[in-house]
Amino acid sequence: MLEQFDLSGRVAMVTGCSTGLGRGMIAALAGAGADIVGIGQSDASETAADVAGLGRRFLHIEADLKDSSLAGGIVDQAVAEFDHVDILVNNAGIIRRNDSLDFTPKDWDDVMDLNLKSVFFLSQAVARQFVAKNIGGRIINIASMLSFQGGIRVPSYTASKSGVMGLTRLLACEWAAKGINVNGIAPGYMETDNTQALRDDASRNKEILSRIPAGRWGTPDDMGGAVVFLASDAARYIHGYTLAVDGGWLAR
Ligand code: NAD
Repeated sequence: MLEQFDLSGRVAMVTGCSTGLGRGMIAALAGAGADIVGIGQSDASETAADVAGLGRRFLHIEADLKDSSLAGGIVDQAVAEFDHVDILVNNAGIIRRNDSLDFTPKDWDDVMDLNLKSVFFLSQAVARQFVAKNIGGRIINIASMLSFQGGIRVPSYTASKSGVMGLTRLLACEWAAKGINVNGIAPGYMETDNTQALRDDASRNKEILSRIPAGRWGTPDDMGGAVVFLASDAARYIHGYTLAVDGGWLAR
């Protein structure tokens, strides 16, 4: 049974590879046997060391994913190094906070370009490679509690993450018959740079903690089981589903 979770010989491309959930998921995927292509804008030396420590290969591609025209070239670079890509984890994401009455077009476009538009065009570029090589593949999109709920003061983030869950379903419907599994993971409230502002606000921190059934913030390590599962043969008949890793937040 456990062999189904083995990712030896697979190549996993993960966006937003330097920090937070991306770094945590890369450690899990490499630990399960995958070589890694990490895409990001910042120094990835800590992630590279994690992967090397697990005995796997790591390629870093520096790119601003807000520019979706880079998608095809990114996949070409990965294929030139590793011959194929089997798994894509669309993880890179940003958030901008402001009252909706004051929200700017820039804070709308920056978030939508990275969190939603690049998810589609990188998925398209990787799926074209899955189809051209006839190898099937896995796409895992990182959604959010705000794929299910409204939130406050984060209009472009909620729009983008609600879109990510819808897009996950659509791509699953189009590509399941081609041997491509498209699924999502919706993290709850996790300790990363992305949520530093919330954790620094004592009253918001207390409010959030008191609502999480597990009684603690999640960590990047908590994402490992879900991402390896969805990337593996064990999830071969799962299509279009977004799995919450949220300490019970949505069950409340
Ligand atoms: P993070 O800020 O640590 O990670 C985001 C990563 O994306 C960073 O490595 C950053 O360098 C990269 N990135 C940002 N802009 C980029 C760009 N233009 N091009 C390329 N890379 C870029 O935050 P995180 O919490 O690890 O977030 C990862 C994902 O998880 C995001 O999609 C986020 O929305 C989602 N998420 C996080 C939480 C949470 O509680 N932390 C909850 C739900 C969803």
